[in-house]
Amino acid sequence: MKRMEIPCSKEPMILKDIDTIPEPPKGGVTIKAAFCGICHSDVHMFDDEFDIGGGIFLKTQDINPNVEYPIVLGHEISGTVHAIGEEADNTDLKVGDRVIVYPWLGCSDCGLCDGEQANFCCGQSNYIGCSGPNGGYSEYMKVTNPKYVLKLPDNIPLDIAAMLPCSALTGYNAVSKVKPTIERFINAKGKATLLVIGAGGLGLWCLQTAKAVLPEGTRIIISDISQPKLENALAHGADDTVLWDPSFSKEDIINKTKEKGSDGSIQAVIDFVNSAATSSRAMGVLSKGGTIAMVGLFGGSLEISLPLFAFLLQQIHGVFVGSLDQLKELVQLASNTKLKPPEISHVKLEEVPEMLAKLRRGEITGRTLVKF
Ligand SMILES: [Zn+2]
Ligand SMILES: [Zn+2]
Repeated sequence: MKRMEIPCSKEPMILKDIDTIPEPPKGGVTIKAAFCGICHSDVHMFDDEFDIGGGIFLKTQDINPNVEYPIVLGHEISGTVHAIGEEADNTDLKVGDRVIVYPWLGCSDCGLCDGEQANFCCGQSNYIGCSGPNGGYSEYMKVTNPKYVLKLPDNIPLDIAAMLPCSALTGYNAVSKVKPTIERFINAKGKATLLVIGAGGLGLWCLQTAKAVLPEGTRIIISDISQPKLENALAHGADDTVLWDPSFSKEDIINKTKEKGSDGSIQAVIDFVNSAATSSRAMGVLSKGGTIAMVGLFGGSLEISLPLFAFLLQQIHGVFVGSLDQLKELVQLASNTKLKPPEISHVKLEEVPEMLAKLRRGEITGRTLVKF
């Protein structure tokens, strides 16, 4: 089998031919990959540099000291069950089932991991294809616990399915954080506005799930620095857009955005950019009693006026991917509702290094997936 591996920290990836297909682990399964999404977090993994703010940069081995090179990235994995290991009796998976993999594994034995909340694990993170087991830039891969392998309904194509555990799950989780606030405003006033900051792949997935799960009467508007991206967001169902041109003043941007909201204000914001500039604009446009969901990326900082924050009864949520239960809900949603994903392009495994370089330079629109 072929796999794309990083031999040592900060060394170029190499395509390896491996003689044997991995045996399924005891109690686990092996997956034959069909698609693996190429994600922006792979760029940080490949650079082995995670900007956590305050001038601090972590390496992969700071996040998980047990990581051993070579490592194989790729955490957006769809495929079929290739083999089932001995004693894998807690699963009804069968060889040949079409599946996706939930990659956000924790320590596996704190109460949060047992309770399907591994993304909130307080122990050691073991994200598949990130800081843990080898991932999907490989024709075959192992998953130690079949509960993290979800069977797909027949009507979800495998390439769209590969995006569900990362970008789509993040969007879905962010929407779930702002949903109670939106519902409160809808119940009281019959209308509410959600602002999504960033019209890239995450923003577009968020838009789709927001349209599917937020109550009638919700307006969804999207902001970005790029006019073509905003036009694309309109084609994906945004109710309105607002250009956050970097040459406009902060006041100008805040006023233009508020004008687009229900009664001149915004009740909820989901920020996929999460820079100092976007977070302060988010605070500026929010109505009293509003909510902000900030999606975890790397770098950036947040300045808050604490008295104002307390006075306005605002809420801020951090969002990092989502739970296993949320992924199960999202699979059902994707099967029952027509979600329009961002544009997809397929590439070969050997093209991964080139695609990561393009991603770093911001030259990729939509989502790129390795097709096996
Ligand atoms: Zn991802
Ligand atoms: Zn845990």
